[in-house]
Amino acid sequence: MGADRLTAALMSFAAQSRAFARLVELLERLDGGRDDLLPVLTYHRVAHPDDPSGRYPGLVSATPAAFATQMRHLAGARRALSLGELLEVRAGRARLPRRAVMVTFDDAYRDFGKHAWPVLESLGAPVTLFVPTAYPDHPERRFWWDRLYRALTAASATVIETPLGALPLGGEGERRHAFRRLRDHLKALPHAQAMAIVDDLTGDLQPPPEPDVLGWDELRDLAARGVALAAHARSHALLDRIPVAEARDELAGSLADLRREIGAAPPVFAYPGGAHDPAVIDMLRAEGVLIAFTTERGTNELRRAEWLRLRRINVGGRSTLPAIRAQLLPLARHLAPPARRAGG
Ligand SMILES: [Zn+2]
Repeated sequence: MGADRLTAALMSFAAQSRAFARLVELLERLDGGRDDLLPVLTYHRVAHPDDPSGRYPGLVSATPAAFATQMRHLAGARRALSLGELLEVRAGRARLPRRAVMVTFDDAYRDFGKHAWPVLESLGAPVTLFVPTAYPDHPERRFWWDRLYRALTAASATVIETPLGALPLGGEGERRHAFRRLRDHLKALPHAQAMAIVDDLTGDLQPPPEPDVLGWDELRDLAARGVALAAHARSHALLDRIPVAEARDELAGSLADLRREIGAAPPVFAYPGGAHDPAVIDMLRAEGVLIAFTTERGTNELRRAEWLRLRRINVGGRSTLPAIRAQLLPLARHLAPPARRAGG
């Protein structure tokens, strides 16, 4: 176990304790609120842990009940910021409010509409939804990580031949381990090569009948009710694993899709899987993107933030409310561990 994982394990243990929760409350009371700190939370899915879809459970950020608790806390203790307000701050026309926080969702999974939006709407809390625009109304297209997870958990074989050699699929633990190893391997490959391997491993496995992603009618309805929709590329390819000309097509295509279907596309982007490099950032700048979000963990000090590399705080299924609150403290910006890519 590396130092990073050890720290994470200790933090996760401490975050369960009552003493930790009291410490966080004390630090929150001492926090006067600074007007240049913007923490941004990243969610993917909100679902029950026994979700029978066979989708990769690692992207379930919270149960519906935990999500409601988290949002009620934020609505009472923080000032949730809309994407429109952040664009005003970016343009120098507005100041960041104290205790600001942004709530973002990546990938536009259908459970956003079912479990997350009703809570946010009832609280009047603004939210930004990043849409990989090749997926709405194309239920035959499925995210590769869900396909791979389903293939490994549904396989009747007890061993699978892979580019990493034969991986055992004896029990649930071995299947999850095989998934993680393959996922990390695939993320390091050129995108086309990775997708060919996924096709090979998943064969003709049938996806669940319900599409993964919200359709355009549903997205239009959400936009009309106040959800800020923004671009998350088209195919969700990692942009540093494809030629930069293709990365430009992914960005420009997703902005054009949003304009065509929703009527507007803010100059805002979330990198698929957080993946970016200097060439991708230069391309975004040249294409007129003003704000881009990574998956690098941490809080943004806006006076010196790189607007095309904003950090976010990923909420995972094991994130307790005290752990989330601790990461929103101004103090936490000094504790950011090294960048690590989250999934999705
Ligand atoms: Zn994503």
